[in-house]
Amino acid sequence: MGFSAVYVHIPFCLQKCNYCDFLSYPGKLRAEVAEQYFSGLEREFILWQKKMGKNIFTQGENITVYFGGGTPSLMPVDLVAEIIAMVRQAAVSCRSTVGEITIEANPGTIDKTYLAALQKAGVTRISLGAQSFDDKDLAAMGRLHNASDIKEAVAFCRAAGFDNISLDLIANLPGQTVEKWLSNLEQAMVLAPAHISCYGLHLSENTPWGRKQAAGQLLLPAEEVEIAMWQRGRTYLQQMGYEQYEISNFAKPGSVCRHNLNYWRRENYLGLGLGAASCYENHRWSNVETLENYAAMLQAEQLPVAFGEELTDAVVLAEGVFLGLRCTEGILFDQLEEKYGTNIRSLYEKEIRQLAEEKLLLVDEKGMRLSAQGQLLANNVFAAFLPE
Ligand code: SF4
Repeated sequence: MGFSAVYVHIPFCLQKCNYCDFLSYPGKLRAEVAEQYFSGLEREFILWQKKMGKNIFTQGENITVYFGGGTPSLMPVDLVAEIIAMVRQAAVSCRSTVGEITIEANPGTIDKTYLAALQKAGVTRISLGAQSFDDKDLAAMGRLHNASDIKEAVAFCRAAGFDNISLDLIANLPGQTVEKWLSNLEQAMVLAPAHISCYGLHLSENTPWGRKQAAGQLLLPAEEVEIAMWQRGRTYLQQMGYEQYEISNFAKPGSVCRHNLNYWRRENYLGLGLGAASCYENHRWSNVETLENYAAMLQAEQLPVAFGEELTDAVVLAEGVFLGLRCTEGILFDQLEEKYGTNIRSLYEKEIRQLAEEKLLLVDEKGMRLSAQGQLLANNVFAAFLPE
């Protein structure tokens, strides 16, 4: 067994958005910082290769790669291409292949030439951080792009030969109504992306908006408005031919994000870069969060791991169940029981019965999945499977 997916974290942005608590450093990025960071990424990958040899990737697997951030589209293409080439070479030595390669991009940071070079480097999928089509909302969020930049970015992607384009949108913005949210989705539809991710805004206190919210100076829409946005948005996207395949993700047929499916199927994934998280069977770990520590540990030929934990079999099984339930197809008992060697139906008999009675889970003899109500209360459902 090896990894099935590689996540590469790019922790640089032009400016920090008011709601963002991702690990990213704002400010003008100097070329030598990007180069140093990428040489760290390469060194980190080589250390993993040394550690795992030909087992770094699962034999015969179609590996996925995802450049996330931060703003990966600020990175020079040749550096991105070098990482892709390294992963490909390692995959060949494991008799595996590399399939889907996604890069997150912010509108306003990409042009046709840049995208054509990404396409040549092997990138197959662009995930655009659109977030909203309302210029006032975008400005309030601290985003540097406007709605016309999103349209231009999609046109650039198409001109460079990318069909597999995903748009990220954020619902539940301050002052947003259900109608405004639906208008966002309608404007997204005009661009006909292959994939849409819709996230509801929830603020953490270490962001400017989170602090304002805690001080009572910023109000998010009421819970019933958020629920209506989610319900009506979901119905609308389904009517427009998008299949909801995960709580927050919708795709045209054949355009699901394979990389994210790896997470929800609890496959092994390797995270490279600052703060990146990884999972390998019962082990979970994440990397250091400062550029200085990251560079210093790699200089010393050490994996830049800051935190690691060994999970009990009970936790791994619970994760397998609730991550699988995030997908709308849910889980198949036989499949999961074979993977984890445990009879799920008898182990969780009481929990499954209760959640089915509460109409949060739809259960039949083959498997179970979340009901529409269960998707809204997903965290309550997931908590029921975690050991005490
Ligand atoms: S662009 Fe994305 S990662 Fe960067 S600050 Fe804004 S939300 Fe955070």
